Amino acid sequence: PYTGPSAADILAKRKAYLSPSLFHFYNKPLNIVDGKMQYMFDESGRRYLDAYGGIATVCCGHCHPDVVKSITNQINRIQHTTVVYLNHNITDFAEALASKMPGKLKVVFFTNSGTEANEMAMMIARLYTGCNDIISVRNAYHGNAAGTMGATAQCNWKFNVVQTGVHHAVNPDPYRGVFGSDGEKYAKDVQDLIDFGTSGHVAGFISETIQGVGGIIEHAPNYLPAVYQIIKKAGGLCIADEVQCGFGRTGSHFWGFETQGVVPDIVTMAKGIGNGIPLGAVVTTPEVAEVLPCGSYFNTFGGNPDKYEIIGDVRGRGMMLGVELVSDRQQKTPPAKAETTTQVIMDHMKELGVLIGKGGFHGNVFRITPPLCFTKDDADYLVDAMDYTLSKM
Ligand code: PMP
Repeated sequence: PYTGPSAADILAKRKAYLSPSLFHFYNKPLNIVDGKMQYMFDESGRRYLDAYGGIATVCCGHCHPDVVKSITNQINRIQHTTVVYLNHNITDFAEALASKMPGKLKVVFFTNSGTEANEMAMMIARLYTGCNDIISVRNAYHGNAAGTMGATAQCNWKFNVVQTGVHHAVNPDPYRGVFGSDGEKYAKDVQDLIDFGTSGHVAGFISETIQGVGGIIEHAPNYLPAVYQIIKKAGGLCIADEVQCGFGRTGSHFWGFETQGVVPDIVTMAKGIGNGIPLGAVVTTPEVAEVLPCGSYFNTFGGNPDKYEIIGDVRGRGMMLGVELVSDRQQKTPPAKAETTTQVIMDHMKELGVLIGKGGFHGNVFRITPPLCFTKDDADYLVDAMDYTLSKM
């Protein structure tokens, strides 16, 4: 049994010693002390079904025995830099990662985070092309350092850093976007940004095929093929940010970009790659790298969203799903007290033992990104818990 500090004690200490910008989910924050595969346990030993582990990096499940064994074996041997000394683990891992990549994407740079991976990818694109302009998509999240904060396109996540050399294209959002699911029409905005906002040449384009922080918004079909063609014509490199949608999460494909049938010039990743360990990576082609010398698919939620008027959209793929709440289905208006409504439902579901996340500009999207060991029974339980909660509202 857990004998450590209580949730209240931890919260008080957190207020005193940690960043005031830290936030927590749930009105009564959870004190999580243990994890096992798709479950987490609070201080009283109560078990929660974790349908949000994906956001915080857990891909193969909490404390997966193979992962724990590998980590402990390595820690018992040596922990040190692999830059100036040789060690086979890092080369073996790079080889394994490269084997999951299409085309000539074979050179791996490891980083500590997604932010770092995206900063590096954008720097590589700028070095390779000799251009500065990068295009990202509105509502995107790419990181919290100066460059990636610039590429991030949601005011919620931006400070007043000097933002140069980035342009934000219309979000190809099939739910709210003006062109519905016509990806090619949205792509025209990228051409316009190049024609009217740059010299005609760009360093590159970066996007998440399924926006995570933005509220699980999948690019409209055919968007990436059209954009990649436009970017290539303007001399730029295409970067796929797979920090959230990579590593098999979509169920249908290993990488998010594969759902659009494109091959990027640079792929970035983090979170799932480390299953809880701070790790990220950039993968590119040998030619581009030269510039730096130095589960199975299920569709439980695809059913009947008509049941509750408040559900405007259910979207995503595999283990990366969004459920968006609206007050008016036609107008797609977020509920009046969007954050509070989402919060109330999350708190109720927590009481039923299911943890989900939230996001989107208005905080009105449930983000369901479980560890990939989630079973059909787990999914059914999650849906039942959400159904029950909504029926009580
Ligand atoms: N890209 C995407 C798509 C992300 O969701 C995040 C983190 N939420 C990042 C990049 C940044 O990753 P990190 O927090 O590891 O820096």
